[in-house]
Amino acid sequence: MFSFDNSYSRLPERFFAPVYPEPVEDPKLLAFNEKLARQLGVAADLSDPDRLAAILAGNVVPSGASPLAMAYAGHQFGNFVPKLGDGRAILLGEVIDAEGRRRDIQLKGAGPTPFSRRGDGRAALGPVLREYIVSEAFAAFGIPATRALAAVSTGEPVYRERVEQGAVFVRVAASHVRVGTFQYLAASGDEEGLKTLADYVIDRHYPDLKDRFENGPERYAALLEAVALAQARLIARWLGVGFIHGVMNTDNMTISGETIDFGPCAFMDEYDQMKVFSSIDQAGRYAYRNQPGIGQWNIARLAECFLPLIDADEERAVEKANSVLKAFGEHFQSAWLDVFRTKLGLTQAREGDGDLVQGLMAEMQTSSADFTRVFRSLSEVARGRTAGFLDLFTAPETLADWIARWRNRLEEDGEGAKRSADQIAAALDAVNPAIIPRNHRIEEAIVAANDGDLKPFNRLVEALERPFEDRPEFAAYAEPPRPEQRVLRTFCGT
Ligand code: AMP
Ligand code: MG
Repeated sequence: MFSFDNSYSRLPERFFAPVYPEPVEDPKLLAFNEKLARQLGVAADLSDPDRLAAILAGNVVPSGASPLAMAYAGHQFGNFVPKLGDGRAILLGEVIDAEGRRRDIQLKGAGPTPFSRRGDGRAALGPVLREYIVSEAFAAFGIPATRALAAVSTGEPVYRERVEQGAVFVRVAASHVRVGTFQYLAASGDEEGLKTLADYVIDRHYPDLKDRFENGPERYAALLEAVALAQARLIARWLGVGFIHGVMNTDNMTISGETIDFGPCAFMDEYDQMKVFSSIDQAGRYAYRNQPGIGQWNIARLAECFLPLIDADEERAVEKANSVLKAFGEHFQSAWLDVFRTKLGLTQAREGDGDLVQGLMAEMQTSSADFTRVFRSLSEVARGRTAGFLDLFTAPETLADWIARWRNRLEEDGEGAKRSADQIAAALDAVNPAIIPRNHRIEEAIVAANDGDLKPFNRLVEALERPFEDRPEFAAYAEPPRPEQRVLRTFCGT
């Protein structure tokens, strides 16, 4: 089914633990991403769903797989844990996709591993479907993230706060190497291992660094900066869709720059820059606005691991690492401006753009305006219809000034041919989604699935396939929750 070529399993043995998935009672296919399967060159026989389910649940290990659990450490809510690792995820192997990119195929919830600690190695249906929905929404938004290949129910119970139905999530990633993977090796002073891993990720994710530095030692500081840049850009993209990751621990931050681990994550409905959903984030460490700062903090932890690689002279190494950390801030600022400038339909950078964006955000904050609808309705404002936009604010009259500033700025934007209102509106609609995976819709899909009804899940996935289009049949998915539908808390579900 998969044409595996497993590079991670060829790395030193201390990087992972070989482990086979533990078969489950009664695997049933809940969702299978055929489009992604085709991109990955996965030969799935859909006429035999039972066999497909058996493979995707880990009951049948396909030929060529070299199943393993990756070792990693991590700072969880600021506290360092030297040994975490895949406690409920098993990397089956890697495939080369249609574009020649190496992708991991991982089973999440496939049974215990040497890293399970007190956990059962399993996943519950709700979190699996949540991860499926959100990963695919990210793909439709064009924001880097791991992908969902399949979800399979196990026919077994899992014991959480209550008894839940078990499921396995089949995840596809550019790789599962995390900040925490480097921390794991650094914690034991394994300089050789750090070098091996750094060269591995250069090969896999940042191959241009190889040529640029002719394999010289400068490539490691350059790698650190490349990761910082990728993460700064990623977090700016999150902020652009009102996304709150929820658990930005260093073990949940990839080296590739893909979003990973959609646990208690959520998209906000009404805008609040300090918004937190996760039940375990009581101090608001990972609140919406704190995400860039935390990203930088995580990159600082990565930089610490890199010090011995960057320069044999410690002082010089620290100096170089510090300049990367400073660069993170600058990269983020410029990525954030790019994202929000585009969300306002602006094609050129001008002095004062940051103020213009902040002006709107301040009004949104005051009004607890719906984040997604505010930006989506800008296309209507561009066409001269302001009513829908103004309705989103508690004191609409205060918006007149901002609208005027924005219109002036649009007027002076661009060179040469002026864009028509329709052209501006189309550009706005192409970047400001009408549909996001709103919490109440995810909740609704999970509740129904727990009762054996996958229709709301399938429909939500379908709605999110084309989030930038106004399709009348999916109009309800663009609506914010009614008061009684609001979801205020999300859970890890581990
Ligand atoms: P997460 O919150 O999913 O990023 O997981 C944090 C750590 O806890 C990772 O090392 C996971 O492998 C581990 N973990 C989470 N849930 C389980 C579980 N049910 N069984 C074993 N390990 C788990
Ligand atoms: Mg994790």
